[in-house]
Amino acid sequence: MQVLVTGGMGYIGSHTCIQMIEKGMTPIILDNLDNSKQSVLDRIELVSGLRPLFYQGDIRDKTFLDSVFSKHNIDSVIHFAGLKAVGESVAKPLEYYDNNVTGTLVLVDAMRRANVKSIIFSSSATVYGDPASVPINESFPTSATNPYGRSKLIVEECLTDFQQANPDWSITLLRYFNPVGSHPSGELGEDPQGIPNNLMPFISQVAIGRREFLSVFGDDYATPDGTGVRDYIHVVDLSAGHIAALNKVGTKSGLHTYNLGTGIGYSVLEMVKAFEQASGKTVAYNIVDRRPGDIAECWADPAKAKTELDWSASYDLKRMTVDTWNWQQKNPTGYPD
Ligand code: NAD
Ligand code: UDP
Repeated sequence: MQVLVTGGMGYIGSHTCIQMIEKGMTPIILDNLDNSKQSVLDRIELVSGLRPLFYQGDIRDKTFLDSVFSKHNIDSVIHFAGLKAVGESVAKPLEYYDNNVTGTLVLVDAMRRANVKSIIFSSSATVYGDPASVPINESFPTSATNPYGRSKLIVEECLTDFQQANPDWSITLLRYFNPVGSHPSGELGEDPQGIPNNLMPFISQVAIGRREFLSVFGDDYATPDGTGVRDYIHVVDLSAGHIAALNKVGTKSGLHTYNLGTGIGYSVLEMVKAFEQASGKTVAYNIVDRRPGDIAECWADPAKAKTELDWSASYDLKRMTVDTWNWQQKNPTGYPD
């Protein structure tokens, strides 16, 4: 099975490529290296024993896409490529709509020309907005509170319309909860450029001494300890969810939508404590104001993926923190240039 992996040099894409290789699939990576480094390819090879084909280019470049599709018999596309920082999306909405929405439309149009009719799209739990209750299942109403979330929602809606008009296509929307952790080898992990936006890489950089303290965004939410509660999922589990989706529904026509989460919520302070235990370091923190747009709690009902994809998360919080710390220690400043 040959699978075009857009954004395959990124955090989730690179981990997924390793598992594809382990399962005998052939990933072909397409990435513009906007948020990743060439050296990721060396690490994929080091861990998996195989160096995937890599095309450097942009999903919005029609000619480039046509040339890649013409060279290979692609069976399916996993579409990770996109911009993902909520705060940046508020400042640069056009860039987000262009990359995430236009990029996806250009990609799907190229797939249509190449007669490739199977795509798995990286969506997000952010499409549930501020849910009325938890756990969240796939039939909950969707909404968006920022341009990043709206770009994911618009793509979901475009793909839904497109699938209705083209019922022989297989379109899978995977709604990720909070991906964390890294490959157990410590060779691959999350490598945010600049100040991390997300909790786990921030905690990890405090523990290694790159940042002085964590700002905890609010301790007055209606949660057990007042801090925000999220469904953190190990990136290896998340990657396995893509393999399961490819195998179970990637060749079945239809629109398939799944939550990929653990079904368990942890608070910010629980994450800090777990990381301190894993690293043996103290993670200094200050309580500050709530971050605008944040919600109190969010965790998945993962039952549909369990029933239909035969997939469920198996890595616990300890593995998430231990593996993150292993990656951080081995690569204190991330991937080499
Ligand atoms: P990432 O930034 O590490 O990886 C994305 C990759 O896409 C990068 O290597 C980047 O260089 C590439 N890219 C971006 N725009 C491109 C373009 N126009 N053409 C070609 N390549 C391009 O991000 P990630 O954390 O691996 O996330 C992957 C996907 O999952 C994204 O679509 C993201 O929105 C989605 N997602 C991520 C999270 C998360 O917390 N990490 C949560 C939910 C959904
Ligand atoms: N958070 C925090 N400090 C940070 C980053 C995040 O307190 O520096 C909190 C945030 O308010 C939320 C949780 O950690 O409750 C997860 O935030 P993240 O940005 O990682 O993911 P989100 O759920 O917002 O997509």
